[in-house]
Amino acid sequence: MSMEYKSTRGGAAVNCVEAIIKGIADDGGLYIPSEIPKLDRSLSDLKTMDYRSLAKYVIGKFFPDFTPEELSACVEGAYDEKFSREEIVPVESIEKANFLELYHGPTLAFKDMALSILPYFISTAMKKLSYSDEVVILTATSGDTGKAALEGFKDVDGTKIIVFYPKSGVSEVQERQMITQEGDNTFVVGIDGNFDDAQNGVKEAFNNESFRSALKASGYELSSANSINIGRLVPQVVYYFYGYMELLRAGKVSEGELINVTVPTGNFGNILAAYYAKSMGLPIDKLVCASNENNVLFDFFQTGEYDKNRELKLTISPSMDILISSNLERLLYEISGKDSAKVSEMMESLTKTGKYTLDEGTKSKLEDFYGSYTDEAETLETIKQVYEKHGYVMDTHTAVAYAAYEKYLKETGDDKEMLIASTASPFKFTRSVAGALGLDTEDKSDFELVYELSEKTGLEIPKSIYKIEEREILHKELCKKAEMKEKIKKLLNVGE
Ligand SMILES: *Cc1c(COP(=O)(O)O)cnc(C)c1O
Repeated sequence: MSMEYKSTRGGAAVNCVEAIIKGIADDGGLYIPSEIPKLDRSLSDLKTMDYRSLAKYVIGKFFPDFTPEELSACVEGAYDEKFSREEIVPVESIEKANFLELYHGPTLAFKDMALSILPYFISTAMKKLSYSDEVVILTATSGDTGKAALEGFKDVDGTKIIVFYPKSGVSEVQERQMITQEGDNTFVVGIDGNFDDAQNGVKEAFNNESFRSALKASGYELSSANSINIGRLVPQVVYYFYGYMELLRAGKVSEGELINVTVPTGNFGNILAAYYAKSMGLPIDKLVCASNENNVLFDFFQTGEYDKNRELKLTISPSMDILISSNLERLLYEISGKDSAKVSEMMESLTKTGKYTLDEGTKSKLEDFYGSYTDEAETLETIKQVYEKHGYVMDTHTAVAYAAYEKYLKETGDDKEMLIASTASPFKFTRSVAGALGLDTEDKSDFELVYELSEKTGLEIPKSIYKIEEREILHKELCKKAEMKEKIKKLLNVGE
């Protein structure tokens, strides 16, 4: 069996194995399955499955070119004890708000859900295509993705990973998580610039032909782990199924009963995965897209115009500080009736003018979505209120989602069971969370605040950051932003 993966912009189709290796299509588009697969097992059947079995089933529908044995090895390797909870994704409920806790992986954020399995997909795909080169994953990070990618690729055969981060642009805990990274194939480099500089340096390396061929001559192929790779998107579909089954098992919904989903959104990957789950036949009604003060998507859902011409605000939910939500392109493809010419036109307009507008027919297909946004003060207040009323501690991103849920409920009266994607541990954004709960944060290091937050709330400190300040620093590489390519060559022992 095979399934075609097409480019949103109309270029040549490939199978899933090639799509995973390539990451992005040659025409700059994103790979999408020619048809979103449909559920062919009953919900009561799925209800008996644990996380791993469900993952094998759902991913198998999208990636039929992997054998069941190959897929099984990927899933078992990814979702093991590196997740601190046996159920992988526990669900915690406050009345009709059900938190799908996606943050119990090694880096305490939901990116682990995809980045723990992507390396297995890549190395399996390499074997299937008889690649003899080593794949070098290059990543620029503003904090979260880099660590999640490092953990995922650590000691995976046939791969090396190099992460660049802005030396003074990440939190203390984030930096410490990265520079204490283990694994013989991992490299972490601080640069003397901001995240954009790191990102530009990586892009430049990708686009530099002579640099790439020098690497190629030494047996290295560059690849990326960013969120447009279809191998990152598909594993995210799984947990929406799992969340629904948890509600079924808890007796909160009956088989086939519709639920709603709220997702704190940045690059639009996570919420798109929920849309795919719905398209497959999971009983989901509305998808609430929660933004912070960078509310491009809110405006888009209101008006049908996407306009990134505004200043990026740095907020306390930094993983959502994004003006171009790349994965939205995949939704545009679906709602425009798979019209790749139309998608290409809109993307070209986005590049040239920073905006594009949907035609009326396409806009009317946005009705599955409801946009909402939350400012900084409301986010902190939400953390405080929910803790005081229910004793539940949320991180800043999850709080943006919860606030959106409350607004949705108030504005529409639609009180179906709501699944809320809970994307980070409160210990990942300790300073903001501790402050919201009334702790004095001044003159204290993030490390101290971790202990204080634990003491105040009774929450156990996650193993992956416990006493992290005492761990041995294994990465001390630094480089100037203009010298990233030279640095890469040096790390890989590639000559001129
Ligand atoms: C990446 C991230 C998001 C945004 O997810 P997208 O898939 O980019 O929309 C939200 N919260 C946290 C904690 C994240 O790390």
